[in-house]
Formats: sequence, C-alpha cells, structure tokens
Amino acid sequence: MTVKEIFETMDYGPAPESAAEALAWLAEHSDGFGHFIDGRFTKPGAGFDSRNPANGNVLATLTQATQADVDSAVAAARAAQGKWAQLGGPGRARHLYALARLLQKHARLFAVLETLDNGKPIRESRDIDVPLAQRHFYYHAGMAQLMEKTQAGREALGVCGQIIPWNFPLLMLSWKIAPALAMGNTVVLKPAEYTSLTALLFADICRQAGLPKGVVNIVTGDGDVGRMIVDADVDKIAFTGSTEVGRAIRETTAGSGKSLTLELGGKSPYIVFEDADLDSAVEGLVDAIWFNGGQVCCAGSRLLVQEGVAEDFYRRLRRRMDGLRVGDPLDKCIDIGAIVDPVQRDSIARMVDGNTEGETYRSAATLPAKGCYYPPTLITGLSPASTLMQDEIFGPVLVGTTFRTPSEAVELANNTRYGLAASVWSENINVALDMAPKLVAGVVWINGTNMLDAAAGFGGMRESGFGREGGWEGLTAYTKPIGKPKPLTKIEAFTGDKGPEDGIDRTAKLYIGGKQARPDGGYSRGVYSKSGTLLGQAPIANRKDIRNAVEAAQAAKGWPAATAHLRAQVLYYLGENLSARAEEFTNRLNQMTGTRTGAKEVDAAVDRLFTYAAWADKLDGDVRSVPLRGVALAMREPVGVIGALCPDEAPLLGLVSIMAPAIAMGNRVVLAASDPFPLAATDFYQVLETSDVPAGVVNILTGNHAELAPTLATHADVNAVWSFSSTDVAATVERGAAGNLKRTWVNNRQSRDWMGEKGEGQTFLDAATEIKTVWVPYGA
Ligand code: NDP
Repeated sequence: MTVKEIFETMDYGPAPESAAEALAWLAEHSDGFGHFIDGRFTKPGAGFDSRNPANGNVLATLTQATQADVDSAVAAARAAQGKWAQLGGPGRARHLYALARLLQKHARLFAVLETLDNGKPIRESRDIDVPLAQRHFYYHAGMAQLMEKTQAGREALGVCGQIIPWNFPLLMLSWKIAPALAMGNTVVLKPAEYTSLTALLFADICRQAGLPKGVVNIVTGDGDVGRMIVDADVDKIAFTGSTEVGRAIRETTAGSGKSLTLELGGKSPYIVFEDADLDSAVEGLVDAIWFNGGQVCCAGSRLLVQEGVAEDFYRRLRRRMDGLRVGDPLDKCIDIGAIVDPVQRDSIARMVDGNTEGETYRSAATLPAKGCYYPPTLITGLSPASTLMQDEIFGPVLVGTTFRTPSEAVELANNTRYGLAASVWSENINVALDMAPKLVAGVVWINGTNMLDAAAGFGGMRESGFGREGGWEGLTAYTKPIGKPKPLTKIEAFTGDKGPEDGIDRTAKLYIGGKQARPDGGYSRGVYSKSGTLLGQAPIANRKDIRNAVEAAQAAKGWPAATAHLRAQVLYYLGENLSARAEEFTNRLNQMTGTRTGAKEVDAAVDRLFTYAAWADKLDGDVRSVPLRGVALAMREPVGVIGALCPDEAPLLGLVSIMAPAIAMGNRVVLAASDPFPLAATDFYQVLETSDVPAGVVNILTGNHAELAPTLATHADVNAVWSFSSTDVAATVERGAAGNLKRTWVNNRQSRDWMGEKGEGQTFLDAATEIKTVWVPYGA
C-alpha cells in the first residue's frame, strides 16, 4: 500500500473514553439520589430515572422534590445567608477557589458524567463545558475578593432560586452559582429533570470543599419543582430555559419584589458575506449549529449567505456535513453525540417534517442503530416568515436563505422576536464592524462563533430575555444597594373649589413629537394648590395618546445615532435654559406641593442635567480580558424607547432624573409626569422647545398613572418601562411587560431620595443601557 492509498482509505478508529470512574460513582448511589439540603444529602424518595440518551440505559434514580423539600431548602439557604455575607469577600473567595480547584481535580469525572447524562460528545464536555465551569468559579472568586472595593454601596440580594436547563448542565450551574455566591447570596438550584447528575456531583464537591452548610442547596425534579421555587420566599429568580416558561415566570413574579433575570431562547443569525473566508465560515458553522447537537440557546441556527457565493457555500457545507461523525458521545472521534431525550428528538423531527418549503439536505453520516440521534440537516431557500426561520428548533438543523446587500442582511437578521447572538463573517473589517452595532443581539461574534468566557457578559435582548451573566455587568444581577428604603405612600392631588388667582384659566397640553398636542379624549382636570386655588388644567392622556407618543419616539431614530458629544450639548443647553427660568419653576413647585422646597428642587434638577450631560460621552464600554487572541468589546447601547411613570413627590426633579440619563445614553422617552403635581412637567415643554431637543426624543403625558401603566407596559414598541409612581403599579407593569419581555424597573412601593445620592448615578445609567459583547478575534 502506498502512503497515498493509506491516506485515501484511512478511517477513524474508535477512541472511547473510559466511563469506569463515573459508573463507579453512580454505583455508590445505586439506591438513588436525594436532594442536597443544608449541607447533606436527604434520603432518596419517590422519583424518576435519569437515562443515558446514547443507549437508553438507566444511570440513576432521582428524587422528585416535594413542597416540603423546597421549603426546607429555602429555609436552609435563608438561615445560612447572613453569615455567608458577613464572611466578607475575601473569605468567600477562598471557598470559591476551593470549589474551582476541586472542579479541576475531578474534571475527567465531571466530563464523563456530563456526557453520559446529556449525550454531548466527550470532546465538548472535556474541552468546553468543564473548563468554562472552572473558569467561572475562578473568575468569580476574584470578584468576591474585590467586592468590597468594586461594589461599594452594594450588598447581596439574599436567597436566590435558580432554575437551569439540560443543554449545559454543569456550565449553567456555574454561571448561576458562582456569581451568586461571590456576592454573598445563598442558593436553591434546580437542575433539569433530564440532566441532574453533575449538579449532584457538584453538591458532593461542596461538601468536600467545606462550604458552609445551607449556602448551596440542590433539589431535583420536574417543572413543578421549578414552579415551587418561583413561588417560594426567595429574593431572586435566575432562569435559563425556554421563552415560554420564562414569560410565565415573569407573570408569576410580577409585583412580588423578586429580582429576575431570564436567559431564554434564540434564533441567532449566522451571516456570511461574499468576501468571507468561506472554508473558515463552513468550519465555524460546524461549531455554530452542530456544537452540542444544536441544542444551544445561542446556536447560529439561521444561515444568511450573500447571494453571489450561496451555491458555492452550500456545496462546501454539504460536503462538510457528510464528513461529520455522529455516534457514541464517549468516543473522542465523534463530532455530534446524542440528542438529550427522545422527547426532544421527536420535537425536532416534528418541526422538520412539518416543513413544506425549501430544500432539505440530510448529512450522509450514518447514525448508530440504537440511541437517540438526529442527522445534521440543512434546509435552504426558506422565506423569512417561514416557521423554521422564526422558531427555535433546538437540534442539529440549520435553516438558511440568501441576501444581496448588507442592509438586507441586517433586516433579515433582525427579523426575529429573539435577540441573543449573531455571527458575522467577512474579511473586510469595515463590513464586519459596521454590522455589529446594527444587529439586535446581546452577543456578536466576528469571524467566529460560540465564544464564551466568564469575563464577557452573555445575555439577550427582546424575547431572549434580560440580564447578563458574566463580566462586571453580571454582578448587578446579584446585588442591590445597601440599606432598607422607606415605604412610599400614595401622594394625593389637592382638591379645591376656588378659581385661578388671576382669573385666567390655563389649560396645558401634552407634548408629543416635539409639539404640544391636545389629549385625544379632550379631557383635562383641575390642578389645585394646597389652599384650594386652581393653578391650571392638566390634560388626561389615554391609550391613544400613548400610542402617538410611542410612535413619535420610535420615529426619532436619529437620536441614538447622534454623537454622544451632541447629546451632551443638548443636555447642557437644557440645564442652562432651566436655570434661566429657575424662579418661575420654583414658584410653580411651591404652589403645587404646598412646600418651600421648590428652589432646592430646581437647583438639583439643573445640576442633574449638567451631571448627565457630563456622563453622555464618558460612560465608556470596555475591553474584556478573555482568553483569546483578539478583543471582546463590552459596548454600551441604548435600550430603545423607555416608558416611565415619574415620581409623584418630586414633580420636576423626578422627571429630570429619569429623562436625563435616558436621553444622555441615546434612548427616547415617553414620560408620564407626576400624577398629582403635573404642571412643572407641562411648563418644562418650553425648556425642551428652546433647547434643540429633536422632535420625538422626549414625549410627556399627564394623567392617571394607574390608567396609563397597562398601556405603556403592554406596548410592543416600548423596550423598557420604569415606574417610580406612588401609585402601586409594579404588578401591572411587570405582568404587562411579559408580552414582549421588555425590561422593567419598578419601585415596589419603596421611596427614593431624589435630592440625594440615590436620585442620580450609575444605577440609572446602567438601566438606560444594555451591554453588547462584540468578539473580534484577530491574526491570520
Ligand atoms: P424549559 O424552559 O421547560 O426548562 C428549563 C428549566 O425550567 C428546567 O429545569 C425545567 O424543568 C424548568 N421548568 C419547566 N417548567 C417550569 C415552570 N413552569 N416554572 C419553573 N421552572 C420550570 O425547557 P425544556 O427543557 O422543556 O425545553 C423546551 C424548549 O426550550 C427546547 O426545545 C428549546 O427550544 C428551549 N430551551 C432553551 C434553552 C436555552 O438555553 N435558552 C435551554 C433549554 C431549552 P424540567 O427539568 O422538568 O425540564
């Protein structure tokens, strides 16, 4: 045989990883697993089998948690939390380092167990899942060490309920547990029913590491257990899974005061330009859609390829697909392992079989006769509205279509309800970097895909959820400002029967699209001073006025595109113009509120405008230290259109404290002014009109907060809703926001010191921006 013949006929031999150690560990628990509560395993109870999807064999029997189990896990976490927080950052860091080291020491056992339980190739669990999980614990050990210095003024939330899916069982556990523990929280975590084993092994590691009892609690079971955790006395819910369940959790927790982060589904575009290195882009696709059998929330599952190279690209892709090896996940030569469960495989098959459009190509790879497998599949020629182009398949199925121009690529890419990730392939840096800000996605990979690291934030926009995991931004999800705020009581408007002092009746209007507008309903109400004198009439806005205001805000697209320098200038100008009319505003405030604090409030409002003018071009993004030859940019982007119910108690300062950071960061706002004291806001129109604020950037409505809140919260073109009203609308806002999963920030009936430090600063700037991580590898 010649060398050439050997090369041509050479095939892979099997290279199986030994499962002996993992099977021995499972054998130690042959009588079943209990839960891990208060530092020890409970006695196994009635439960369910966990199977190896590669062959259907039962691996272990797990316990279905009861309400009593969840209650005792939450109680253990509650009891442990105070002491854990008091241990201090450096004390907690030592525990996190110990956990990271033990994960490293038992890396092989974790990897094999993960592969047995989930069906993912051992190459992936060994080289990606487990090292990244370790990295999260190491990184957050450092965050714990630095907490007192870098998170000054913030403290732990308390007890966190955490619910994770089956696609990255150990990795999702580490994404949840590491930052929570670092910041001084304790946790009750529920792994997915299909894949609980590495979480239970992790519990064992917690015991070995001497982690104080009650700090980590793990309960197993199905979605009902998840629901029990959501309903439990916890301070935060962190969830990763389907958009459907995430939305249900948003609705259930509405108005409860529980903090919430949701990392949900995606249909991430994978955009290939004609000047891309096509072979690299094909290889990237192998990682994008066939990594973990496509059961990846950020999978590049929607291929968009430029028309001129489409046929060539598809041809190369099909050839590569035929070379993919599907089989025993423990075999180190395998590219694609088993699908997690027959239920998931059937769901994939149902979606693919139900499609009647385009052209379907299945890889020529042979599948094992036994076990739960699905062939790599490519479906091209789909229309943008096709179900398979819009819905998450969550399997090894790539769907695709073509585009002609970069702007068409952006349009197609953003034509989805999701916004998790995107990949852009082009050898032209101008094209690639021009695309990144235009894509609605929390993560953008340039000439790469599925790059993940603890130092880089990960999370979505739109219906892919909210909140970030990893990086500095991930910490805010596990901390809150120190101190107990005072309860906020409802502030009522004054009533009266006296006419205006000067005999002239003044009826204010709404401010929409840069113009004063009569309210749609034509109604207004009298605003009276404390002594009952009529100060003026304020319009009562209705849902139609909100719609008009949102439309005007959406149309003001130039504002986010304007330079930060220009936005700063407009804010300075607003500050100067308000300052010039200080006396008039002071009198108005004093008359409306019946206090003498007007001058102080105007001063603070002017100062706040100058402060956010200063921030406009200084709130930087940064470059993250990820293990990559290249950079991961954490870019701050505006949230979009923010609807806000302004505080009742500080009619001018409250409005300015919300408007200024929002517009400084490039957002457009629809503000419902102080409900009882609306006239400072209507006077403010003139300041806006004389300060070069482009039409539609600031829209102001007056009216009843309880009536305006539901429309703002459910409006599909509003991206975030904030409420600082003294009317209790938290539940309405959060429940209404579940529809398009908009970001919410509600006061939960707690007061804020608008004059003092809490009325300004980082919290507002953070809420006004979202971090987009853009990965830019470089080098030949
Ligand atoms: P789910 O969203 O149902 O599951 C995620 C986690 O939530 C699991 O631990 C699950 O428990 C639990 N859960 C289920 N129902 C509730 C509930 N009402 N309240 C609280 N917790 C609950 O995802 P599935 O596993 O059912 O997968 C379905 C689809 O979701 C997939 O096909 C895929 O499209 C998408 N998905 C997205 C993921 C992502 O990373 N974004 C991850 C996984 C799935 P249990 O153990 O019973 O499943």
